[in-house]
Amino acid sequence: MSAFEVRQTWKNHLGNQQIDPLRIYKPASIDDVQAIVRAAEDAGVTVRAVGSGHSWSDVALTRGYLLKTNGLAQPESAEPDFLRPEWSERRLVRSDGGIRIKELNAYLDAHGLALSNMGGYDHQTIAGVISTSTHGSGITFGPLNDFVRSMDIVAAGGAVYRIEPADGPTDPDAYTAHFGEHRTLVQDDDWFDAVAVGMGCMGVICTVMLEVEPKYYLREVREFHPWAKVRADLIDGAVLRENRHYEVLFSPYRRQHEYPCLVTTRNYTRNPSRKPFDKRSRNWLVEFASAFPLTPHLLNLMVDVKPSLSPWMMENAIRALIKKEYDNVSYKVLNIGAANLLPAYSGEVGVPMDGRHIEAADALIRVATEARELGDVYQSSPISFRFVKASGAYMSMMQGRDTMMIELIELSRCDGGYELIAAYETELRKLGGRVHWGQVNSLSASEGLLETMYPRYPDWLRVFGRLNSSGVFDSPFTERVGISAQRFAP
Ligand SMILES: Cc1cc2nc3c(=O)[nH]c(=O)nc-3n(C[C@H](O)[C@H](O)[C@H](O)COP(=O)(O)OP(=O)(O)OC[C@H]3O[C@@H](n4cnc5c(N)ncnc54)[C@H](O)[C@@H]3O)c2cc1C
Repeated sequence: MSAFEVRQTWKNHLGNQQIDPLRIYKPASIDDVQAIVRAAEDAGVTVRAVGSGHSWSDVALTRGYLLKTNGLAQPESAEPDFLRPEWSERRLVRSDGGIRIKELNAYLDAHGLALSNMGGYDHQTIAGVISTSTHGSGITFGPLNDFVRSMDIVAAGGAVYRIEPADGPTDPDAYTAHFGEHRTLVQDDDWFDAVAVGMGCMGVICTVMLEVEPKYYLREVREFHPWAKVRADLIDGAVLRENRHYEVLFSPYRRQHEYPCLVTTRNYTRNPSRKPFDKRSRNWLVEFASAFPLTPHLLNLMVDVKPSLSPWMMENAIRALIKKEYDNVSYKVLNIGAANLLPAYSGEVGVPMDGRHIEAADALIRVATEARELGDVYQSSPISFRFVKASGAYMSMMQGRDTMMIELIELSRCDGGYELIAAYETELRKLGGRVHWGQVNSLSASEGLLETMYPRYPDWLRVFGRLNSSGVFDSPFTERVGISAQRFAP
């Protein structure tokens, strides 16, 4: 078994989550992972894999053995595929689960390939983004887990499973001839839809096979609009169908413009390598200023000392991002850039796009106004609306319905920021809201919340009961939201 560290504190990237696990391991193979899971079960303690710690929620914490996956980070996994002949023409890449999106993109680019979509950042690992149903924007694209075709997972007892849909890529005879009784191939839609979004509870994801597409280029256009126009466009819906990607940054405060918005569209374009630098970059001054080490402290100081500046700051931030043309290779355009570096945390709630997404914006305005009037608490960063296609994954926020994901970002020194996110969440839940697993949330085990939010939760639990039969993947998160309390109560 691989070496481990003891008495080391693990923190997420912002430092708002931390824990002192019993041991920290860095396995380098499926065999290592098997040995760690078995050792934990023998000792009666829990295990949890972490990616790059980019969740603001407690979803990655464990008091038992914490398993860092950066030793399992090759873009081309050593695990063989055994492709069925009908899959051999498709563009498939099996990577190790611990690879970050950034390195995966570089590998794909070098091979003339690209992800069909991604979130707004690339420092997370592929297993991490799948586990929380991380998403980008574009109503023809589901969350990232929807691009997965096959996964190798180490489950309770150290059992190794390859899990795929019923018509998955692996040839069962070839797989069994190679691994015999040592591993199990499961080609079953029910298992696949359960495991697709597992929040770290279904075992350790060691490899992920993704379907990708040929390398492509995108043009990003960012325009300023009042909410009234954006609202009308969203009710009409054509903007969502006519653009490959469409997303909105929204301020819940009325200033000289009613609730200013930044609308971003991204569509196919040609390779811009011959265009002037200005057309191949975002507003470089803004990017430079955001990446400058003092900027976050200045912004934080402003919202800390004079929170009432927030509406003004937000409108100016939106205006600073306006740009008519930014062309580049897809994964650079899909990455929202230096804004990811600001010290901030966020909560995110998905509401169904059946009219409740419009009501949701009204609810945000109401909550923000009330918080300002009651306690001088301000939304400190524009709110993002992204649009995601329905997913089959049982515990995806997008399960079974096209979804508007509402990201509620707060600068880290914003007084009352966590309470404000909780207040938004309460209102959005009334509109069928489902919280992002990786972002700040106040879900609890009470009131049958998970059952109400996720109609396929019982199906997910059945598979969870198999893959986590010993309880080895329980955690503070599963206790908080009531997943493990149901079966592992004292
Ligand atoms: C700056 C920033 C930008 C973001 N942008 C977006 C965005 O655009 N869209 C969006 O939807 N979300 C976004 N997020 C949220 C983020 O994508 C998710 O929280 C994601 O899960 C983090 O991935 P990670 O690799 O850091 O995993 P971690 O945060 O380390 O872990 C997340 C979960 O995955 C599990 N896990 C990790 N690796 C494995 C493995 N190998 N096997 C089994 N389980 C595993 C963990 O146990 C945990 O439950 C952003 C977060 C940040 C900080």
